[in-house]
Amino acid sequence: MSESEITSVWILGDQLLLRHAALEEAVERVGRENMRVVFIESIERIRQLPYQKKKLVLLLSAMRHYAERLREQGYTIDYIHADSFGEGLKQHIARQQSQALITMAASEYDTRLWQQEELEKVIGVPVTLVRGSQFLVEQYNPIPRPQPGKRYILENFYRDMRRHFGILLEGDGSPVGGQWNYDKLNRESLPARFDAPAPPTFEPDAITREVMDLIGENEHGVGSTSDFDLPVTHEQAQAMFDDFLANRLADFGPYEDAMSTRESGLYHSQVSAYVNIGLLDSLEMVLAVEGAYRNGEASINSVEGFVRQVMGWREYMYWQYWQQMPSLRTANSWHGTRKMPLMFWNGQTEMNCIRHVAGRVLDTGYNNHIERLMVVCNFCLLAGIIPAEVAEWFLCWYFDAYDWVVLPNVVGMGMNSDDGYTATKPYIASANYINRMSDYCGECHFSPKQRTGPGACPYNFLYWNFLIENEEKLRANSRLGPNVLSLRHIREGERRVIAEEAQTFLDKLEYYGAEDPQVKDNV
Ligand code: SF4
Repeated sequence: MSESEITSVWILGDQLLLRHAALEEAVERVGRENMRVVFIESIERIRQLPYQKKKLVLLLSAMRHYAERLREQGYTIDYIHADSFGEGLKQHIARQQSQALITMAASEYDTRLWQQEELEKVIGVPVTLVRGSQFLVEQYNPIPRPQPGKRYILENFYRDMRRHFGILLEGDGSPVGGQWNYDKLNRESLPARFDAPAPPTFEPDAITREVMDLIGENEHGVGSTSDFDLPVTHEQAQAMFDDFLANRLADFGPYEDAMSTRESGLYHSQVSAYVNIGLLDSLEMVLAVEGAYRNGEASINSVEGFVRQVMGWREYMYWQYWQQMPSLRTANSWHGTRKMPLMFWNGQTEMNCIRHVAGRVLDTGYNNHIERLMVVCNFCLLAGIIPAEVAEWFLCWYFDAYDWVVLPNVVGMGMNSDDGYTATKPYIASANYINRMSDYCGECHFSPKQRTGPGACPYNFLYWNFLIENEEKLRANSRLGPNVLSLRHIREGERRVIAEEAQTFLDKLEYYGAEDPQVKDNV
């Protein structure tokens, strides 16, 4: 390639990395003066689903701020609003007379497939697809693989990642404190009085306000842009993370699985949305948290718990996604047949836990991980909801939700619908678990103690109904066999009542997609 030829770099909205592999590749090949950097706001992509408007504002504002950052660094930017990625790139190539395009491999399956198989034909110039650098597992070369004939469970994957990156290890390679995993210390419920320091908020600047207007009330999407105050730059995301380190990390571990009527954020970092679009670097976060442990600022169970979420769980999800796509999208091991219950779309229900959890995600785009797993997914698995429907709801509403994280987390883990590849047992529980880990049940219309009869909590009869319906399959799972054993104490008559009450409840439940003026107006 001659040095005077123009080369373009296409940067996707979830790849806003300070060190961007495609930019570095292009600088090395042709130099900054012969480069054009293109960003596409694709209407087709924005309208693919009725997304939470705060999620759209975050994504587009962060992208526009990132483009400005590159412009200030001397790059020539072409920022395009187009019907689709393909249309935008065609416009760009024609306008800039580019002879080549470099882009980083997308983290999502469909876009990467399109990059690999269609993009060159669409734009008519050679395309170089640079390997992604956004995930640690992609920097782990060779990418970890299970031992032949063995399943690569999260715990082994996580230990391999810790060893490879040298995190929380003693000099001899053993884990600090003598254990790899301190999860047993991370299951405390909250005291009656607690005061979790709120994370910082960020006043929208002119760029963000412009995006808020664009996405505003007349645009496609659900929820509202009105009180948007999230980080949209690297500096703001870093301030959010630094605030977690200083004010919430110490209590993060013990209360990692706790839930409260007061809020979802509690002691969580709440930075997943920013890591997922490249505003924060996961290895830097892990090193900072490890530093807090080594300086005596946080206990090992808080620090290890955070490292496991970022270096273990997040990376394992991405790895599983690429192992299992595209079949993961339609996986349905427990044969769910129902659509998503309407209460998750409008927050209207007498079930206090769901009213709070759904209400908060509709409002803010955020729930903590245990609310997502043990309130939303637990209910949906017990109620026979189609996993793909649950995944779509997650993609619409959560501001940190992308295909690569939702499908393994929701279809694999939460709905246990990938034949156990992601999680070796279904995470199902009766009201007992929610009652122990939260204060939802105290104010609820239903009783967490009652299995059947008027006022019985739906989680209870749905849970027992699930065990009864799947007794044989569950008994064969060594991790769930003991739960099924307690079925022996339930006589035939009560089994019938459980089945009838579960059926009546599910028949009366309203499902998304049926006529509902409120949801229609919102969308
Ligand atoms: Fe949720 Fe049941 Fe508790 Fe009510 S009683 S808050 S529905 S778990």
